[in-house]
Amino acid sequence: MARIELDALKRKISVFPRKPLIHRPTPLRRLDRLTKELVGPEIWIKRDDLTGLAFGGNKSRKLEFILADALNRGADVIITWASVQSNWCLQTAAAARRYGLRPILLLFNTSDLAPEYDGNLLLDRILDADIRIREAEKGKIVSLEYVAEVLEEIVNEVRDCGHTPYVVSVGGSMTGWSMTKPLGAIAYLEAFIETCEQTREAGAGFTHIIHATGSGSTQAGLAVGAKSLQEDVRVIGISVSESREVLVPIVRKIGRETVKSLELDVDLADSDIIIMDEYIKEGYGTINKDTAQTIRLLFVTEGIVLDPVYTGKAMAALLDLVRKGYFQKGDRVVFFHTGGTPALFPYRKPLVEFLS
Ligand SMILES: *Cc1c(COP(=O)(O)O)cnc(C)c1O
Repeated sequence: MARIELDALKRKISVFPRKPLIHRPTPLRRLDRLTKELVGPEIWIKRDDLTGLAFGGNKSRKLEFILADALNRGADVIITWASVQSNWCLQTAAAARRYGLRPILLLFNTSDLAPEYDGNLLLDRILDADIRIREAEKGKIVSLEYVAEVLEEIVNEVRDCGHTPYVVSVGGSMTGWSMTKPLGAIAYLEAFIETCEQTREAGAGFTHIIHATGSGSTQAGLAVGAKSLQEDVRVIGISVSESREVLVPIVRKIGRETVKSLELDVDLADSDIIIMDEYIKEGYGTINKDTAQTIRLLFVTEGIVLDPVYTGKAMAALLDLVRKGYFQKGDRVVFFHTGGTPALFPYRKPLVEFLS
């Protein structure tokens, strides 16, 4: 297996067209007060919540490539799906508007609550996205069969009106429908490089990356980055929805497609895909006391706002791992803040209850 130099890898990525959406590099800094409080590894944070598009988040990195792909294919409508309070759907709708495409969002109601115009859904509404809400199984991710059925209806409707749709899967992760290359993962491979450059500048290598994992391309991109640059970094994904058994093959598939698309000389093995699913707890999108207290802790110690669905859970996992002695002294952990903060507001009730 050949090691690739950072600049060579950057050149390979630069071949993919993109439409600018974000401020880069996003800040990387050490969480001094949290590190001190925990007595464990050094904890750093990569602020991908500050990408700058519609409250920021990991999806806007991916959408730079996806929007370019959609425009190159002559699309004038972008269609995607996820749950009602989806960060991905908001980011997609905002990116679409930014480049003059019309967003259609297929939103599945997987929570017990009636959808309210709050958080991401409020922002979708302000953006005047074409919102289609469907009921779905609670606390679960919707099945692909169900999604495909509804999508087909929408695609036909758009075509019948003389428009050209670009259909992209949830999270910009899986190839299929209109997206033929793993553009989401390529964006996160680039985020890995960006982080490497920043840590080199700071004169501090890092030993672990930890982040919330959902649809898989953030983890696939980071893991391929670590592997191809042969950085001695363990990328740990904290699942917020699916079991390891479901997620590992997804990340592997996206990772291997990334390797192939960029003609890299690496093999992403299952041992490179570390996923922890024991922090899903009550299910996708369900907040618990631990997550609420973690959100408070980060805000109180560092002035950083996490979200209840992804980053609050992932940070709670990191804290738990530190307490369990998972890390060694001298380890340096980079926590990827992947955004999602608009979803904080629809959770006001449980948050206040758990924190009182
Ligand atoms: C989508 C999302 C993730 C997970 O990223 P994937 O690439 O879908 O695995 C993590 N955090 C937030 C806030 C997200 O919106």
